[in-house]
Amino acid sequence: MQEHQLVDPYKRHLNYLRISITDRCNLRCVYCNPRLSNQKLHHKEVLRYEELLRIARIGVSLGINKIRITGGEPLVRKGCCDFLEHLAAIDGLKDISLTTNGVLLKKHIDRIASAGIKRLNISLDTLNPKKFQQITGHDLFKEVWEGIELAFQKGFDPIKLNVVVINGVNDDELTQLAELSFKYPFHIRFIELMPIGKTSMLDAKPLLVPEIKKRIQLLGNLIPVQKDKNDGPAMRFKFKDAMGEIGFISPVSNHFCKTCNRLRLTADGHILTCLLSDICEDIKAPLRLGLLDKDLKTVFLKAVARKPFQHPENLTPLAQPEQMVSIGG
Ligand code: SAM
Repeated sequence: MQEHQLVDPYKRHLNYLRISITDRCNLRCVYCNPRLSNQKLHHKEVLRYEELLRIARIGVSLGINKIRITGGEPLVRKGCCDFLEHLAAIDGLKDISLTTNGVLLKKHIDRIASAGIKRLNISLDTLNPKKFQQITGHDLFKEVWEGIELAFQKGFDPIKLNVVVINGVNDDELTQLAELSFKYPFHIRFIELMPIGKTSMLDAKPLLVPEIKKRIQLLGNLIPVQKDKNDGPAMRFKFKDAMGEIGFISPVSNHFCKTCNRLRLTADGHILTCLLSDICEDIKAPLRLGLLDKDLKTVFLKAVARKPFQHPENLTPLAQPEQMVSIGG
């Protein structure tokens, strides 16, 4: 019987683990993956699938019941779908989801479905193919959109589309993106741009949720949607008669640290306690030294005990993390 042991010094119950399975990505989004940097982890530094599964099992034995797989781009890692299948078989894990840029969705959709994944978050910052190329460095909009439509046809639910709002780049498309919620049951989530790492976006002035919301409300009244107990930080709304939802995520203007229930496992085996802090515990080294599960549990508990109450008020570029692509968002 699983007991919940992951309670931090501020009495937050941490039941959600985000696992980045690779730092590699097939896109180069301007706000995430520095185009000039080609620094990648050596494959020996990256946790092997059996190591990831062992850590996941230990997390679940301590009270993790929700896991999101992210990256880099998780679908570029060979064997990702087999891994998802093994992960889904862990007893006690109630919710597994995948965050992807959608480029390889068409290729893997059936395996993702048969692994038992139903919840997909897909990054999509624009509906304009040229702008897509400008943001991501690749002419792959059509590929991504077809992947999203296929996921819809295959019955994935919910499908959440993550839009990072970049002032002067895609803010002219906010209503167009929001309108998708009339045609599809998608959750369109607008995310404030975080000034993370050494990307070319560091000086961009972020457009904040109050302004984003005001612009989207030109389409109609936004009706609040009751939050679910397991919901993340998105504020949820809906237009009357829409099939889908609109969400706002405000890490900059109104951070949600007070209710943070997350831990992150980086591809190189660190348990990270906060997206915007470098406080972490290395779990790979003790695991590779052959320590027992009970000792690896202690590593989790140590990380939890060090979780900061909140990230810095003023988000400034930190020495670490260098870039979002290495932590997985
Ligand atoms: N490759 C996958 C993808 O594109 O969804 C997963 C990894 S990506 C790092 C996870 C999420 O982080 C994406 O939704 C992305 O838009 C978001 N993200 C990355 N950098 C960000 C930033 N500087 N501010 C806000 N969100 C960011």
